[in-house]
Amino acid sequence: MKIKIIGGGPAGMYFGILMEKADTTHDIKIYERNGPSDTFGWGVVFSGRTLSNLRAADEPSHAEITRGFEAWDNVDVVHHDQKISIHGNSFSGIARLRLLNILQRRCEELGVHLNFRNEIADLDSLRADCDLLVAADGVNSVVRQSCKDSFRSKLSVRPNKYIWYGTNQLFHGLTLTFRETPAGVFAAHSYKFDRATSTFIVECDPRTWRQGGFAEMSDEETRAYLAEVFAPDLNGQPLLSNNSKWINFVLVRNGRWSFENVVLLGDALHTAHFSIGSGTKLAMEDAIALKESFDETPNVSAALQRFEASRKPVIEDYQAAAHESMLWFENARDYMRLSPLELAYVLMTRSGRVDAEELRKRDPAFVAKYEAAIK
Ligand SMILES: Cc1cc2nc3c(=O)[nH]c(=O)nc-3n(C[C@H](O)[C@H](O)[C@H](O)COP(=O)(O)OP(=O)(O)OC[C@H]3O[C@@H](n4cnc5c(N)ncnc54)[C@H](O)[C@@H]3O)c2cc1C
Repeated sequence: MKIKIIGGGPAGMYFGILMEKADTTHDIKIYERNGPSDTFGWGVVFSGRTLSNLRAADEPSHAEITRGFEAWDNVDVVHHDQKISIHGNSFSGIARLRLLNILQRRCEELGVHLNFRNEIADLDSLRADCDLLVAADGVNSVVRQSCKDSFRSKLSVRPNKYIWYGTNQLFHGLTLTFRETPAGVFAAHSYKFDRATSTFIVECDPRTWRQGGFAEMSDEETRAYLAEVFAPDLNGQPLLSNNSKWINFVLVRNGRWSFENVVLLGDALHTAHFSIGSGTKLAMEDAIALKESFDETPNVSAALQRFEASRKPVIEDYQAAAHESMLWFENARDYMRLSPLELAYVLMTRSGRVDAEELRKRDPAFVAKYEAAIK
């Protein structure tokens, strides 16, 4: 089969790897507009369960990915200068660039052709020249935008602003920090992803953003302002920018996942709010599901229908949980009256995926302390 993939992110490369492994006679080409070591952002997180799926799908890349992992089991909630740790949650962090480099090497090893610095604008000639065209071109997918009626795309630009920084202050757990200021409430989502660096995402509602005066601030001024807000947490370490800009989260859904020989994959197909840290996991698991559909049938149209039928319920379930989590952060200022312990409990159960019993299994001491406090 002749397969063309637009986008050399986790979704596109992982699908290329799995299809080439399944049948070495496939001719697979990936087109990526960036170079192999250009990337945005810092680290990404995986949950424990994702890793067993990756091991089953491709042992060599799983081994490489987990070799460089920073792992932890605690979520830390910081509120009113008090840190509450909740244990029993399995997470690991890896630099996005490191993950991409591992997948690039695996593509090369298997003979998947990677074409860097190749931005695709002409969709029609590309799709006429292959059996399957995979649009793994990220949240701002040009393929989805140019065929939005065929995909019945639904986009929702959310009100909160967020900015993705790094820092050399190490956060040994998935740390959610809340700081109240005269401008409003700022939340930071942070976690270490290698021995020296943590991701540090700052989020705030539009009122806080306006009152903070960020529209008029330079990159340096913004970093200095936010470093001051989170001074008790950053321990004197600066915030590091990687072309970091304030953006709004875009919720992506599609009524149809494919048409003719074109299919969407990863962030091009769906997004889930970053507070549940599952974008990369979902992108790579999409690749597994699409490959498994081709295991069932070599017919492109039948495989694409099978992919949508089997994967859509899983994605809808994740998006529902992520939606609750996103709404929670959009309304974070309403929760600031809670004590640190109450806030930690509400945060842990916000998405509806973890209930009181599940939390008790993960960290009985935390639940006992919470129950004693609210009596
Ligand atoms: C602030 C923030 C925090 C996040 N935190 C996490 C986290 O903790 N854990 C997690 O798992 N995920 C996280 N994510 C999400 C994660 O980055 C994405 O969900 C994941 O990278 C999706 O993979 P993808 O392959 O679908 O898309 P991408 O990684 O976006 O890859 C798409 C690729 O397509 C290329 N491309 C686009 N258009 C073209 C074109 N026309 N021609 C050629 N190439 C093109 C792009 O250059 C890019 O390399 C976060 C995202 C954000 C914004």
